Amino acid sequence: MPLLVNLRHLEAHNIHVKGELPVKELDLDSRDEIMRTGEPLRYDFEVQTLEHSLLAQGRLLLTLDCQCVRCLKPFKYTIKLDNWTAHLPLQGEESVPVVNDCVDLTPYVREDILLEFPQHPLCDAECRGLPDPSSGKATKPQAAGQAENGSTAWSELNKLKL
Ligand SMILES: [Zn+2]
Repeated sequence: MPLLVNLRHLEAHNIHVKGELPVKELDLDSRDEIMRTGEPLRYDFEVQTLEHSLLAQGRLLLTLDCQCVRCLKPFKYTIKLDNWTAHLPLQGEESVPVVNDCVDLTPYVREDILLEFPQHPLCDAECRGLPDPSSGKATKPQAAGQAENGSTAWSELNKLKL
């Protein structure tokens, strides 16, 4: 179900729309591996007519399944637009398409949500990522331990020989 608003209804009174938009309506699946959308977009806003235009004001919420670009940990990223506003002209060159007295708000919701997608999703702003094997910090103690064990084993062998 697209997000349709009937202009005839709007002539009488403002319309409050609240619901969920399935992810497939948002057509976001061209996104890469680091971000997935599983949950529907939730919307809750009011639409009113101004002179020759529509004004939508309210909230949009979408939770993404992201993968941290530094540590590869999966995490949830929530896009929350508490003061979402869309001003849609009904006349002139920029006017929005009207079909059977209805305007589909889906493309405008989608556009604004896409702008909020993180470019480089991080599980935490302070994420230090995966331990860097080249730094040797994480591996040294273990290597040293193995070396010690090795030398102990050898010295045990030497004892046996004697
Ligand atoms: Zn991370």
